[in-house]
Amino acid sequence: MWDQIAKEISTWTGEPFEIGDRSSVGGGCINQGYCLRGGDVAYFIKLNSAAQESMFQAEALALNQMAATGTIRVPKPLGVGVVGESSYIVMEWLEFGRGTSLSWEKMGRDLAALHQAPGRGQFGWDRNNTIGSTPQINDWLENWADFFAEQRIGFQLHLAKRRGGNFPDPGKVVARVREILADWQPPPSLLHGDLWSGNAACTVAGEPVILDPATYWGDREADIAMTELFGGFPAHFYSGYEAVWPLDPGYRHRKPLYNLYHILNHFNLFGGGYGSQAARMIDQL
Ligand code: ADP
Repeated sequence: MWDQIAKEISTWTGEPFEIGDRSSVGGGCINQGYCLRGGDVAYFIKLNSAAQESMFQAEALALNQMAATGTIRVPKPLGVGVVGESSYIVMEWLEFGRGTSLSWEKMGRDLAALHQAPGRGQFGWDRNNTIGSTPQINDWLENWADFFAEQRIGFQLHLAKRRGGNFPDPGKVVARVREILADWQPPPSLLHGDLWSGNAACTVAGEPVILDPATYWGDREADIAMTELFGGFPAHFYSGYEAVWPLDPGYRHRKPLYNLYHILNHFNLFGGGYGSQAARMIDQL
């Protein structure tokens, strides 16, 4: 398998590549990560079952779209393939370091610039993708309240019901979410979509990078809300962001709603106490 992946890398880059060293890289939630080194180059590879190829295709599309905005650094994808029972994505290897307060400030600024990139003016994306390994529906819609209520909260609630979660009727929750967002009309921003601290890093040179996206065009506040959900983003990140594009005062009220999506998704992925946390959050709506 590895020889075939090396051959594909040679085809994609136009440079001969032979694997001198292969090591596994931990820290992923969904896939097995590897570093392949050969000569003076290195690549990051993620492996999953062959059936997951479309997940990697969507990841490559998201990384390419974010890179095309010229705003924030993401790992450059080389390609996606299937070999035997496995699918894989290959991207440039980045050497991560600690990052300084300046790095985090720049990450905030760069993310705000990403959020300001021009698009087609609707909510959704060019294809469905995944958040973790859960499907994420991205049908284009003009109205943010409809998009978030139906394709984010409603969809996860239906999955959660099937998983045995004890939640109120999805129709009622969706109606309430629509009501809360009814007067809020944000411009569609290209989002990272899964921006917890494990998906943000700084290179050894101090350059901020975001990785492992669940991209779609949505309300930028959804990205910011997730940075606050599990902690880990320093204050400089927020001052950098707000220096470019200040947040609306109503963000504080919408934040728990946006994070309900991720808690429901965690219930669908991992079960356990996320169910009661989601139920409490729904009660508070
Ligand atoms: P998963 O899709 O399984 O969640 P991630 O994309 O989050 O995997 O990657 C897992 C870990 O691998 C990251 O937390 C990071 O430490 C490391 N990593 C990810 N991308 C790269 C890269 N391009 N270069 C070097 N290390 C990387």
